[in-house]
Amino acid sequence: MFKSVLIANRGEIALRIQRACRRLGLRTIVVHSEPDREALYVRHADQALCIGPAATAQSYLNQKAILFAAEVSGAEAVHPGYGFLSENAGFAEQVEAAGLTFIGPTAASMRVMGDKIAAKRAMRAAGVPCVPGPDAALTEDLDAVRAAAREIGYPVILKAAGGGGGRGMRVVESEGGLRDALLLTREEARRAFGNSEIYVEKFLGRPRHVEIQVIADTHGDAVWLGSRDCSLQRRHQKVIEEAPAPLIGDARVREIGERCAEACRQIGYRGVGTFEFLVEDDAFYFIEMNTRLQVEHPVTEMTTGIDLVEAQIRVAQGGRLPFRQDDIACHGHAFECRINAEDPDNFVPSPGVIDTWQMPGGPGVRIDSHASAGYRVSSYYDSLLGKLIVHGATRDVALARLQVALDEARIEGIATNLPLHRRLVADPEFIRGGVSIHHLETKLRRSG
Ligand code: ADP
Repeated sequence: MFKSVLIANRGEIALRIQRACRRLGLRTIVVHSEPDREALYVRHADQALCIGPAATAQSYLNQKAILFAAEVSGAEAVHPGYGFLSENAGFAEQVEAAGLTFIGPTAASMRVMGDKIAAKRAMRAAGVPCVPGPDAALTEDLDAVRAAAREIGYPVILKAAGGGGGRGMRVVESEGGLRDALLLTREEARRAFGNSEIYVEKFLGRPRHVEIQVIADTHGDAVWLGSRDCSLQRRHQKVIEEAPAPLIGDARVREIGERCAEACRQIGYRGVGTFEFLVEDDAFYFIEMNTRLQVEHPVTEMTTGIDLVEAQIRVAQGGRLPFRQDDIACHGHAFECRINAEDPDNFVPSPGVIDTWQMPGGPGVRIDSHASAGYRVSSYYDSLLGKLIVHGATRDVALARLQVALDEARIEGIATNLPLHRRLVADPEFIRGGVSIHHLETKLRRSG
């Protein structure tokens, strides 16, 4: 059972992971880039090692430097957080080859889920409902592709098997556009992902993004921990998340959740994971699985009372899940606002020094952030400054707490998206709940 963890990440999630490790009495080793040397989690680390300059290729994505840091520090486990190397199967393999524990699933699970066609095939086999369309790569035979698209019914969407970050997708409205779209998407996929395999599925017009959190241990047990709605997105980036997903029947969520947990058992999944679905007219369609901790994990923690990072570490240590499905219930409602250092109108990143940092408090309010007054926001990394998370006995109570909390929050010196959040939580459609993934962008276009 490991007693030390190297945190291979930065920012709010490095701090979040470190807090869990410290509570569990584990030694924390932090690797950081040059500009991150003053970070809160670096100061609290039992050992901190600078692994390179600001550029991520030379620091947080530098596998050799991270493995070397693990070796010299005597770390026994590596937590990859989210982003960076967290879904890199080759890195997980190297960590384990060095005799350390990778806090995450096996490299094999990561490879299956990293290939969207393989993931869809595995999920369909496990009884998880998927978007209509074949779970096989399209061949060069145009007639066969036409037949597949016709069977699905237009509009369809072409997607790269190796795609990610919302790239490598193209909507096709009718058969006339199919040939050119095919050539373009294949070429883009080859260039961007080094994998020209593409597949076709039904294009859903106004879906919601609903996901199911799971956790599995290494003894064959898996549970699901409720739903989250992350439909409020801009350019595929989530802005506000909530748990549970509103206006979907409990029985429906339970049925999907149980299938996700069963899929984990069938594929021998271990650790935390998220099944992402598009939901239209109450029907769930699997799109992909994320094989890591997610940014929005706190809303699930608030509604289940489970510390997901602690549980994740315990199962990585070989422990059994500390709860059974029957022990898990959803209490109340939670929201999370991602606070970004960016212009609230044009979304241009806003690096610089924070000179005022006043965060709200009170019942049901939680801040996960590494930032503070005097903190310098670097232009090298993503703009996430922290997360404002609120919980309440009902969705209305949580929403009221969120509105007050956002009103209290003050960040000066750099631009942030706090004004956007304040507008969003006053939006009648968001207040009603259940908006589609296009809601935010439509609203932004309208307000021009
Ligand atoms: P990525 O790995 O790039 O995030 P996903 O498969 O998760 O790719 O899809 C990203 C986004 O693209 C979804 O959240 C949704 O907005 C849109 N999308 C993907 N598949 C479909 C589909 N079949 N119909 C409608 N929109 C889709």
